[in-house]
Amino acid sequence: MAFREVVGHRRLLTLLSRAIARQSLTPSLILSGPEGVGKRLTAVSIAQELNCLTMDDGRSTMDAAGACGTCTVCSRIARGTHPDVLTIEPGDTGSIKIEQVRAAIDRANYRPFEGRRRVTIIEEADALVSAAQNALLKTLEEPLPASVFVLVTSRPDTLLPTVRSRCAHLRFGRLQVAEVASVLEGSEGYSRTDALTAAAASDGSVRRALDLEADAFTEARSDAEGLLQSAGRDPRTRLDHAKDLLKGGGSAASEREHLGARLMAMTALVRDAGLLASGADARLLANLDRRQVVEPMARTLGVDRIGKIFAAITRAEDALERNVSPKVVADWLAVQL
Ligand SMILES: [Zn+2]
Repeated sequence: MAFREVVGHRRLLTLLSRAIARQSLTPSLILSGPEGVGKRLTAVSIAQELNCLTMDDGRSTMDAAGACGTCTVCSRIARGTHPDVLTIEPGDTGSIKIEQVRAAIDRANYRPFEGRRRVTIIEEADALVSAAQNALLKTLEEPLPASVFVLVTSRPDTLLPTVRSRCAHLRFGRLQVAEVASVLEGSEGYSRTDALTAAAASDGSVRRALDLEADAFTEARSDAEGLLQSAGRDPRTRLDHAKDLLKGGGSAASEREHLGARLMAMTALVRDAGLLASGADARLLANLDRRQVVEPMARTLGVDRIGKIFAAITRAEDALERNVSPKVVADWLAVQL
């Protein structure tokens, strides 16, 4: 997981890799930002960029810039088994105790065993008890030679001001939906459709997409199937199913997100039905596990109807994007079916 493998945050990563190449990296860093956007991966990548075997003092010895991510050093850092890279995190009590910090500082006092720079990563640094933060101050202010401290947190404001003022502070933003989807697809084995649906509800956080995924996706798809199966039936039945696409009682943003996930699930189901109706191999389906729903849809609707329904869903998605109220969008779509 070298820099170039971290998804998103190009500007921050460029700054970091330039600083490393110029050997001017600030030895005390805070990486802050929402949960699940790649802060911890970036911290691990910093350790790799500083120690990768293909890099000479942070300068790439090969054409490709940056750490390789695959040499024995990079792999051991990624696995957490490199002697010069230490990660500390909250224990069972949920806090990081002063003893953990003292032990890390003691270790950082020694020259690196085999790498160029020792890296201490403090995960969930907001869990540092005050005494532990105070114990860190001197180290952050007068860093030990060849030693780097990286504090990772989604709540930087809870760190002592004295800690914050001694560190360079890098703020991570949320990822774009496409970036979340590419992580889910690339590293988590999601299908493109599942990845996009989960990403739509992720609020720019891979962690959130992973947490939400199973239940949220299944629920969204089941609501989508309900409305699609009512296609061609009487208007009242269709409007009843349209109600299931709405959440009700949430914030405007969460209402849109809720309907957005259902429209996306409908798109995937209708696309699958279209594939089957035009004689494509069932192995191409995105919703392979829902053949019992997709096959009857393909048979009863036929290619032309499916094309029209697909276009209607696309228009509904556009309208939602343009801030038309979710209820209006869902009702309009039900009428089109
Ligand atoms: Zn390497």
